[in-house]
Amino acid sequence: MKNADPSELLERYRRLNELARDLASTLELSALLNRIVNAASELCYAQAASILLYDEREGQLRFETITNPDDSWAEGIVVPVENSIAGWIATNRRPIIISDVQHDPRHYIEIAKATDIVTDSLLGVPLIAKHKVVGVLEVINKLTGEFTLEDQDLLLALGAQAAVAIENARLFQQSDQISELVHELRTPLTSINMSAKLLLNPQFPETSRIELVEMILGESQRLAKLAADFLDLSRLETGRIQYQRQVIDLLPLLRASIQLVKSQSEEAGIRILLEKPETLPLLRADYDQIKQVIINLLSNAIKYNRPGGRVTLSVGANQGEILLQVQDSGVGIPEESLPYLFDKFYRVPGSEEDARGTGLGLSISKRIIEDHGGTITVRTQVGVGTTFTVHLPLTPGP
Ligand code: ADP
Repeated sequence: MKNADPSELLERYRRLNELARDLASTLELSALLNRIVNAASELCYAQAASILLYDEREGQLRFETITNPDDSWAEGIVVPVENSIAGWIATNRRPIIISDVQHDPRHYIEIAKATDIVTDSLLGVPLIAKHKVVGVLEVINKLTGEFTLEDQDLLLALGAQAAVAIENARLFQQSDQISELVHELRTPLTSINMSAKLLLNPQFPETSRIELVEMILGESQRLAKLAADFLDLSRLETGRIQYQRQVIDLLPLLRASIQLVKSQSEEAGIRILLEKPETLPLLRADYDQIKQVIINLLSNAIKYNRPGGRVTLSVGANQGEILLQVQDSGVGIPEESLPYLFDKFYRVPGSEEDARGTGLGLSISKRIIEDHGGTITVRTQVGVGTTFTVHLPLTPGP
C-alpha cells in the first residue's frame, strides 16, 4: 500500500470536509444515505459504495443504499451478522481492508448472487454514533491499485460524520411523524369528547342519543385504525418489517381479499367483479403484504364510490411482470390532489364527508409495492371513476 503525496492528501481532506458539511445539512434519511454512499465512493476512488443499517431488534444488517442505480434491487437484502464481512466490521467495531473478497471466508455469498458487480477489493468501516453501531459503510473495487490506510482513515472520518447524521435524520423523522400523528388524533378525540358531554346532559333528546353513541363508536374505531396503520407504516419505513417472500398463486389471494371486503361492499351496495386470464404465472412476494395492498385498494374503491356502483379487480401477466388493476365507478380524484395522493395522512378535501379514513392506506401500499420492486400508479376522472394500477415483477430479486 503506497502513500500518496502530501498535497494530494491535503486535497482529499479538504474534500472530506466539504462532503461532511453537506451531510450535516440533510435531514431526510434516504437522501442522506444517497449522499453518504456517493461521498464514500468519490473519496476512496471506488467503483461502488453501500450502506448497511443495523437493526437492533432483529440483530441483522440490511443493505439500504447502493451507489450503482442499476443494482438498486440488492437494496433490502438482509446480511447475517455472523458469516459476513459487514457483520465482522459491526461486531468488532473495526475497519477492514480486504484485497480478495471472493476468497475471504467471511464473504456472504447471497450478496454476490444479488448483484451484477463482482467484488474484488473492499474497504469497510463501522458507523458508530453515541457508542452504538448504527451500520456499516463499505466501498468496493478501487479504480486503480488497492485500498490504502489513507483511504481507510478518510472513510473512518466520513463514517463518523455519517453515523451522527443518520442518527439525527432518524430522530427528526420520528419527531416529525409523531407530531403529525398527534395532530391527526385531535379531530376524532374532540368528536368523542363532545358526544360524551352531550350524552351526560339529561336534557339531551332521547331520540338523538343513538346518533351520538354511533359517532363515538365510529371515531374510536378510526383512532384504532390510525394507530394500527401508523405502526404498520413506521415498521415499513424503518425497515423493521421482514418480508416473507414466498411463491404465490395470485388467484386465491385475490379471492380472499374480495371476501374480506365483502360486508363493506354489500353495505354500500357495490358489486365487485374479478377479471382474470385462463392461467397466471406464480409470483414471488410476501403474501400478507400484497393482500394488504389489494384490500386497501378495494376498500378505497368501495368507500369513494357511489351507491349502486361497481368495482373491477383485474389481473394479468406481461413480460415478466404481474399487472393488477382496481377500477371503480366512483367520485374520482381532482387533478390538483394527485401530487399528494400517496403522502402520509393526505386525504382529498371533502373525503371526510364521504368516508372515514386515515390517509395512510395509500402510503402503506406504495411502500409495500416499491419494496417488491414494483410501481403503483393512478388514473382518474372526477365524477367518472379511478383506476389504480400495480406492476409487480415476478421475481423481485432474492
Ligand atoms: P384513506 O384512509 O383516507 O382512504 P388512503 O391513503 O387510502 O387513505 O387514501 C388517501 C385519499 O385518497 C383518500 O382520503 C381519498 O380522498 C383518496 N382516494 C383514495 N382512493 C380513492 C378512490 N378509489 N377514489 C377516489 N378517491 C380516492
